Amino acid sequence: MMIGIVTAIFYKAGTLHVRMEQEILDAKQMLVTADELRQTSDDLTHFARSYVVTKDPEFKHRYYTTLDIRNGMAPRPKGYAKVYWDLSKEDRERKHPPGEKKSMDAIIAELPFSPEETAKLTMAEANLNEIVKLEIEAINAAEGRFKDAEGMYTVRAEPDRQRAIALLHSKAYYEAKQKIMNPIDDFLSLLNDRIEGIFNALNAKLAFFEYVMFGVIVGYIFINLFIYRYLVKRNKLDRQKLEYLVEQRTQNLETSQRKLQEAQSLAHFGSWELNLETNALTWSDEVYPIFEIDRDDYDVSYELFAHFIHPDDRSLVDRTYQESVSRHTPYRIEHRLLLRDGRVKYVLESGETFYDAKGTPVRSIGTIYDITDRKKYEQTLKDREALLSAVVEQSMDGIGLVDRSGHFIMVNNAYTELVGYSKSELSRMHVFDLLPPGQEPEMFPGIIRTRQPSRREKKLRRKDGTVFLAEISATPIMIGEEERVLGIVRDVTEYRRMERALEYSARHDALTGLYNRHVLEKQLSAEVGRAERYNHPLSLFMLDIDHFKKINDTYGHQIGDMALRKVADILKKTMRKTDMTARYGGEEFVIILPESSHDEAMELAQRLCGEIAGEPYMTGGEGEFFLTVSIGVASLSKSTGSPVKLLEAADAAMYAAKRSGRNRVVSA
Ligand code: GH3
Ligand code: MG
Ligand code: MG
Repeated sequence: MMIGIVTAIFYKAGTLHVRMEQEILDAKQMLVTADELRQTSDDLTHFARSYVVTKDPEFKHRYYTTLDIRNGMAPRPKGYAKVYWDLSKEDRERKHPPGEKKSMDAIIAELPFSPEETAKLTMAEANLNEIVKLEIEAINAAEGRFKDAEGMYTVRAEPDRQRAIALLHSKAYYEAKQKIMNPIDDFLSLLNDRIEGIFNALNAKLAFFEYVMFGVIVGYIFINLFIYRYLVKRNKLDRQKLEYLVEQRTQNLETSQRKLQEAQSLAHFGSWELNLETNALTWSDEVYPIFEIDRDDYDVSYELFAHFIHPDDRSLVDRTYQESVSRHTPYRIEHRLLLRDGRVKYVLESGETFYDAKGTPVRSIGTIYDITDRKKYEQTLKDREALLSAVVEQSMDGIGLVDRSGHFIMVNNAYTELVGYSKSELSRMHVFDLLPPGQEPEMFPGIIRTRQPSRREKKLRRKDGTVFLAEISATPIMIGEEERVLGIVRDVTEYRRMERALEYSARHDALTGLYNRHVLEKQLSAEVGRAERYNHPLSLFMLDIDHFKKINDTYGHQIGDMALRKVADILKKTMRKTDMTARYGGEEFVIILPESSHDEAMELAQRLCGEIAGEPYMTGGEGEFFLTVSIGVASLSKSTGSPVKLLEAADAAMYAAKRSGRNRVVSA
């Protein structure tokens, strides 16, 4: 489309120019003809006057030859011009060989004059005959021949030089001369007006083309340049007019160049041009601020440019440019500049070289663009990315990114170690693939549905099939336009196990595994409270092993411990699920019996006493021994309405049992 329009415009402009050119050529020929007519008249005057004064026959010969040429009787010398007769004879014949015989009338008739122009020129030509009559009369008078009645030169007398001279300087002679020159003058102004008209028409048409071309914005500069070159090629046109047109085009070019400069300045975009014939480098205004130098302080040269390239990049830039020139390919390169104050800048350069018909490089042009800010930004991004990926990779927790359908996008090393799958295996997996068989997925769908972060402990299955307890923190995040879920996974199996162990040891006695005194006391006050509130029975045993020191003394502490554990085992076995048995002191035990009346408790205490006494302790070759216990039983009543009182009552009963012989149960 664009090419079509441009072609049409140029075709039209081309035909216009061809027509104009023909008109100019014709006009030039007309000018030459008018000039020849004037020259002929001047020559005739000159030769006639010279002859009558000098009587040199050469002038007479020249006079008649000139007349013959004008009348088409003698061949017209080629390029008949002002200096023709002033040349020596040999030069004259060599430089202006004889052409065809053609009268002035015939020449005028051939040219495409306008009717007015023809009239003027014909008038001048015709009037030449008048002055020729006077000149011939003068020549004859100088030779002593005069006109008879018929006007023929038959009368012979003394040559009359004075009369001849007077004839050629008479008023009549000057009037006759004017009758030639005036029409020629009129003719010239007519011709001038016509040429003026032609150029005005040309200008008008070109102005129209220009308007069209302005419409065709793309290719604007291209077209201007093209017209410029086109017009230069056709500089046979009148020089002034041409210069006027060129001036117009130049202004247009300047406007577009200014616009280009403005655009460059806005974009901090500089351009340069290197003339390879003269080695001259030119920079656009915008290049100077990039190098941070003043236009006035430096003469631009390739060396100056090279001076500012960072030393580490210099050879690369040079090589890139040289290769671009030799391979006839444009280049593009990012490199550093080292400024005078030691700062480093980054620039993006691109360039291209143009060659003459023989392929010799003549001109390189290019652009330079300051990308320091962009580079700094890129570096910051890179640093951040490096930091982020270091944090991610160094993390002890597994970090994984999944898309909204649940497929893995990225995982860190810790994640792979946690689940036992490699990164490439995980890249083909779904989060549900990590769930143990039978476990329903609910956390991930919940996050996708609610778009809220979530933290859970869930069981996950490793590649080897083992299951571990994972604490999963998952957060929905937007990365660009994509919705992702970022998960942080930590194996808390061991942590939870230790937590449970800690909790257990805080509540239990390490040797026997029974509740400790602290837990018992808390439980007792709770049970007392409850029993009183609902008016339910509650009983308590205080139990102490008889003569235990002796066991330690006889068998050692370890055997003593073993015996303690065995007593504890009997207690656990004998007591009900709802009862609470605790190791209250060294070899003292307290048992809470909720919902047990005093009688029931007494009965159970008796049975317990029997169980413990009936069991042999220590087996094997080292002998065996038996243990007995003394038990004090107290039940909740008005006088024992608090945990402390209940304990004191049971303790007192237990001591009573000791005093009354041991291995027995005493009621409070
Ligand atoms: P009785 O109660 O019948 O009056 O006599 P006893 O010998 O049992 O006297 P008492 O209850 O006053 O002494 C408790 C003894 O139990 C003291 C200590 O050596 C022993 N004992 C306490 N705790 C432990 C323990 O954890 N392991 C072992 N091996 N012995 C303990
Ligand atoms: Mg004791
Ligand atoms: Mg004891």
